[in-house]
Amino acid sequence: MNPLSFVVPLDVAAALAQIRAEGARFIAGGTNLVDLMKERVMLPRRLVDINHLALDTIEVEADGGLSLGALARNAATAYHPLVLERYPLLSAAILAGASPQIRNMATNGGNLLQRTRCHYFYDVGVPCNKREPGSGCPAIGGLSRQHAILGASVACIATHPSDMCVALAALEAVVHVASQSGERSIAFADLHRLPGDQPHVDTSVAPDELITRIVLPPADRFAGHSVYLKLRERASYAFALVSVAVMLDIGDDGVIREARLALGGVAHKPWRVPEAEALLQGAAPDAGRFAACAARLLAGAQGQGGNDFKIVMASRAIVRALAMAVAGTRSNTAQAGNVPGSALAARGAA
Ligand code: SF4
Repeated sequence: MNPLSFVVPLDVAAALAQIRAEGARFIAGGTNLVDLMKERVMLPRRLVDINHLALDTIEVEADGGLSLGALARNAATAYHPLVLERYPLLSAAILAGASPQIRNMATNGGNLLQRTRCHYFYDVGVPCNKREPGSGCPAIGGLSRQHAILGASVACIATHPSDMCVALAALEAVVHVASQSGERSIAFADLHRLPGDQPHVDTSVAPDELITRIVLPPADRFAGHSVYLKLRERASYAFALVSVAVMLDIGDDGVIREARLALGGVAHKPWRVPEAEALLQGAAPDAGRFAACAARLLAGAQGQGGNDFKIVMASRAIVRALAMAVAGTRSNTAQAGNVPGSALAARGAA
């Protein structure tokens, strides 16, 4: 039996005060934390329910970018008209993840902070360096089908499970956080960590900091050539074996002015390599360049036996996603039956 207190602050200042208590954790949608508590992987002593904070708005920024409230639900974000129009990559990535029910509950801030789905991490009967630093990593030499091929360490080979974060990495989002010490912003590339010798630290967000919003820079020039390609064990409700986010800015002359790529399912954080993107810049779309880009993105990739296949799979997925992006962004509105509040959702059919 673990004593647990539950508090419901009504504003950010009160929430930031509550989180300073020993063993306190924020809870919003609860789609990951509740699972972790059931499995006794995380045992907070105080839950600070932040669902009543006014952090759920989605609004245009002065520079034309878009601010996503940390408490806006994933579904509301994916189907927001401005996200569909200006950031189709983000919409597609969110809709590739989880299930409609989970997307209706999960928040944007929580999506960023969700923890690895390494099955050893969830099994408190075995060691795990992420759960208990210094105890070992049974995934190395064990079942590693879902695990990392890039950026892993001798302490941990886990992957980050989010689809949304792969798109946010390509979009170069900025994450805003608040604490009693003030506010700061974190470039998305600096949000998630590689495991190194501290795999128990997932992100650069401190325990007493609250994510308040995620800001997307203007990205209209990419909207016509954006693709999120996710390869997984089954067609829905499965984490990525490999995913690829591609954004291309292609001029009227057919030349790629700028390319951005991020990989999911392959590392402890969304994986980007600027040198790989530079190989596409200033060139017309070309299969040979796509292959060179894939090779550079995957430079240094190393399998663990059970996930060796991911190296070839990722290479082919990158080339395929680039070809799809050149052909043009596909509409996400075909899945509008999942929109919260739609006739289908109202009948509980979402
Ligand atoms: Fe734990 Fe990381 Fe090893 Fe999984 S890969 S068992 S999360 S240390």
